Amino acid sequence: MLGQMMTQPLLISSLINHADKYHGQTEIYSVETDGSVTETNWAEVAVNARRLASALTKLGLEPQARIGTMAWNNRRHLEIYFATSGAGFVCHTVNPRLFPEQLTYIINHAQDRVLFFDATFIPLVAALQEHLTEVQYFVLMEPRNEDAVAQIPGVQFYDELIETGDAGFEWPSFNENTASSLCYTSGTTGNPKGVLYSHRSTVLHSFGSNTRDVIGFSAMDVVMPVVPMFHVNAWGSPYACAMSGSRLVLPGPDLHGEALVKLIDTYGVTLALGVPTIWQGLLAYAAQSGTTLASLERTVIGGAACPPSMIETFRETYGVDTVHAWGMSEMSPLGTANQPLAKHLNLPVDKQHKLRESQGRPCYGVELKIVDDDGNDLPHDGETQGDLLVRGFWVLDSYFQMQDQELLQDGWFATGDVATLDPDGYMTIRDRSKDIIKSGGEWISSVELENIAVAHPKLATAAVVGVPHPKWDERPLLVAVKAEGEEPTVEEILAFYDGKIANWQVPDKVVFVDALPLNATGKVLKRNLRADFENALTG
Ligand code: AMP
Repeated sequence: MLGQMMTQPLLISSLINHADKYHGQTEIYSVETDGSVTETNWAEVAVNARRLASALTKLGLEPQARIGTMAWNNRRHLEIYFATSGAGFVCHTVNPRLFPEQLTYIINHAQDRVLFFDATFIPLVAALQEHLTEVQYFVLMEPRNEDAVAQIPGVQFYDELIETGDAGFEWPSFNENTASSLCYTSGTTGNPKGVLYSHRSTVLHSFGSNTRDVIGFSAMDVVMPVVPMFHVNAWGSPYACAMSGSRLVLPGPDLHGEALVKLIDTYGVTLALGVPTIWQGLLAYAAQSGTTLASLERTVIGGAACPPSMIETFRETYGVDTVHAWGMSEMSPLGTANQPLAKHLNLPVDKQHKLRESQGRPCYGVELKIVDDDGNDLPHDGETQGDLLVRGFWVLDSYFQMQDQELLQDGWFATGDVATLDPDGYMTIRDRSKDIIKSGGEWISSVELENIAVAHPKLATAAVVGVPHPKWDERPLLVAVKAEGEEPTVEEILAFYDGKIANWQVPDKVVFVDALPLNATGKVLKRNLRADFENALTG
């Protein structure tokens, strides 16, 4: 033996241990379900996580038992994250916005033994309880509450449960490839599928997101994850922030613009993460209230294409740098982040700004490629578009309990996105493969048409879908929601496309609706729009 280094397994317990030991007094502000704010810190989260881990272990659950949560971003949810995984159980975050039948399917499929839930979801859990055949313990994330006892027979209470645990509990050591958390994909097609993360993939993902060219959380930051902890682990931010010892603001149930602006201004949030729809509400309220969002330095926006107009408003009006990121549940979720390269500093400023609009480049740990319909590699020339494939340290190999299905293509995972890649690895999402519009044999990117539409000041939001056309097979239809108090005409919306794209790509028609149909993670359900407007150009 020539000598070697220690081999310590990459375990999630090491993250909370680090935060406890070196950032114990660092503040965490948690908006509770009733709207009040509790101030805690990493040391208190760590001690409660150990008590909860001990209490759960005493219940006699088998190793790897799934423990469900139906909860907002708050301190108890954070404690559950570390307690469950740290003790060798699997933290299964359930998206409460799904339909009751889907929730029943997911919780039974995962065989959750325990279900933690916030007070908001008491009626939902009461309605589901008899169908959740595997759940042995229902735990309300509150002190004792007699109303809940009346509604949910046998319910237990978080604050009482952790009292039964030992604060000196020692985190067990085990193989780093052990499963740590489980998240089901939004399920726009078929039944939802589970993505099972491991301790190793989670810790490596935290290292990746903490590099400066990705997000780079810092002990100097006040981080507000607006992206829910029930959606791909809030993009892994609870783990990465324990690693960096960041201050946290956990926004609880109210994600409206007004509530978020107040949290940013009150607690000096420097870095916030969320999907574009959240920032639409925030920017609308910010403009109305006259705040300058003085503390905010950076936003990380992903989950759906971030319109360039949003990046510009953050930059020009508020001096905020937006990092446009792309990923998916199957990637823990970080795939790419848009950060510049040294060579870009010599470019004119408007070119630099333009470069920041794409979904960005992969960090170390993720590889991307594009292929044609036959699986042949396509050039990375920034022009050719193809099906996007990925592989890496935190990318899915097979779905939970579907190991027998051959999912990968020669070791690569097919994302279902259609993209271009440039020679530096900058990726631009053109569409989901099923959403791309094919008009007379030519491709039209719905994302590009949407980005232009939402930049129109009289529109609140918009989606573009391909609908059947007698001559061109398919043509783009713009489905738009008017901004409050505005009455745009179809002509002025269509005129807005002049000079921005080729004439033949301009949507054939505009229809105004009151709201767009969204799935449980806030993505537009384009198949519903396609069905609703199937005859828009033929009928
Ligand atoms: P989910 O697994 O629910 O997080 O959804 C992942 C999908 O969301 C990706 O495959 C993309 O289609 C879409 N998505 C995520 N981030 C972006 C982005 N920045 N731009 C465009 N689409 C995105």
